[in-house]
Amino acid sequence: MIAVARQHLADPDFLKNAREGHPEDTLECLACNQGCIERLSLEALPIRCAINPQTGQELLYPAGPAAVSRNVWVVGGGPGGLTAAFEAARLGHKVTLFEQESQTGGNVRYAAKAPHKEVYGRYIKTLTANCIKKGVTIKKNTEVTEAMIEDGKPDAVVLAIGAAKSSCPAEGINASIVCDAWQILDGEVKPKDHVVVIGGGLVGMETADFCDEKR
Ligand code: SF4
Repeated sequence: MIAVARQHLADPDFLKNAREGHPEDTLECLACNQGCIERLSLEALPIRCAINPQTGQELLYPAGPAAVSRNVWVVGGGPGGLTAAFEAARLGHKVTLFEQESQTGGNVRYAAKAPHKEVYGRYIKTLTANCIKKGVTIKKNTEVTEAMIEDGKPDAVVLAIGAAKSSCPAEGINASIVCDAWQILDGEVKPKDHVVVIGGGLVGMETADFCDEKR
C-alpha cells in the first residue's frame, strides 16, 4: 500500500498526470508545512498550500475559461509571478511574463542550493515548463518600464516583484568579509575556513549547513 497525504494538496492531478504519461507536469509537495500542517496546528486556520492557490478555496476558484480573453502582463518570474501567469493562461488569457534576471525562480533559486532542498529547484523548473505549455510567453533579461506599458497597452499588469532586501543596521555590516546568505548559496562568495553565520532562522541554518558541506 502506498499512502500519500500532502501531495494531494500540492497537486491533486499527480495520479492523472502519471496515468496519462506526463508525470513531469506534477508539482511536488515541498514538505514545507507552511500552508497545511502549520496553519492547521499552530494557527488554527483552514488548510491551504504554499504552492497550490486552489487548495482550500476550490469552490471559490474560477473554472474558466474567462468570458473575455485579455492581454495580461506579469512582472516578476518568481513563484508568485509564475503561478499568476499559469492561472491567467489557464483561464484563457494571453499572458506575457517579464523577468529581469536571466532565469525564473526569484529567491527560490537560492533556497534550492541548500543541502536537501533540491525539490525547490524542481518546483521552479516544473512551474516554468507548465507556464510555457499553457502558452505563457516568458521574456527574461527584461525590466518592464512605464513606457513599455504605455506602448504595449496590456489590459492588466500583475506585479509579482517580490520584497525589497533588508539590511542589518549593525556596525561593520559593510566590511569586506560580510555578505548576504544568497551570495554564499549562489556561489558569488566562496566560504573560507571559518564562517560565522548571524541569524538562526531557516536561512541561517541552511546557509550554515551549505558552508559545512562545502568544507
Ligand atoms: S503547504 Fe507545503 S508541505 Fe503543505 S502541501 Fe503545500 S507544499 Fe506540501
